[in-house]
Amino acid sequence: MPLLRAEEVTVTFGGHRALDGASMSAEAGRVTGLIGPNGAGKSTLFDVICGLRRPRTGRVLLDGHDVTTQGPGRRARHGMARTFQQLELFGRLSVRDNLLVAVELGPDRLQAARRADTVLERLGMTHLADHGADELPTGLARMVEVGRALLIRPRVLLLDEPAAGQDAEETERFAALLRSVADEGTAVLLVEHDMGLVMNVCDEVYVLDLGTVLAQGPPEHIRQDETVLAAYLGEPQP
Ligand code: ADP
Ligand code: MG
Repeated sequence: MPLLRAEEVTVTFGGHRALDGASMSAEAGRVTGLIGPNGAGKSTLFDVICGLRRPRTGRVLLDGHDVTTQGPGRRARHGMARTFQQLELFGRLSVRDNLLVAVELGPDRLQAARRADTVLERLGMTHLADHGADELPTGLARMVEVGRALLIRPRVLLLDEPAAGQDAEETERFAALLRSVADEGTAVLLVEHDMGLVMNVCDEVYVLDLGTVLAQGPPEHIRQDETVLAAYLGEPQP
């Protein structure tokens, strides 16, 4: 049984079907990619998985338990963490404090702060811990969001275009980080336009178009799939 499963999910906005019976699974210890043209429904599927949007039909299963009616807070307490396509940082807080907003600070404040510093070290951002978040270029600001998500030691980590704004070196470092997070047993879900990163880091890739899964398989299979190539025609690839 996969750690996470979204089953036959349909979401409509007015008369428009943003998701139309989309299903996907994510396994512990693996990086699962979700690709597709703009407007395909990738972010909407993440909203449904993490509890920010109730699907019209379909279900979300975590560990085989139906969590479809649970809110995002409850899912987070069960180990689901997510970053957003639009940056969600507190610009006037330091980088470290932007991580710490992920946890309730009680008597464990010191422990949490230590953990934040460990995560920042892992991100190669130790030297930026006390900088204001609004001083960071986009690529690094996104890594602060990833750090915040890592602070809760997620079992399921949903990343929505985390590598946007990164240069090649940052992306390479990030790929290694994703592998190591997966190696710890986390199910990583990655929405990303950088095909180099997706093909390099994912174990399994789902292709979404018009709210429907067009193809699914290991990267080497997806790269050659005719339907996938057709869906991407006209989409400029970086
Ligand atoms: P992707 O992340 O793959 O680019 P989205 O999930 O953001 O796609 O959007 C899927 C479709 O749903 C698009 O047609 C988009 O315009 C529409 N959509 C997304 N969010 C909303 C919303 N809050 N209200 C209305 N339409 C939306
Ligand atoms: Mg999106």
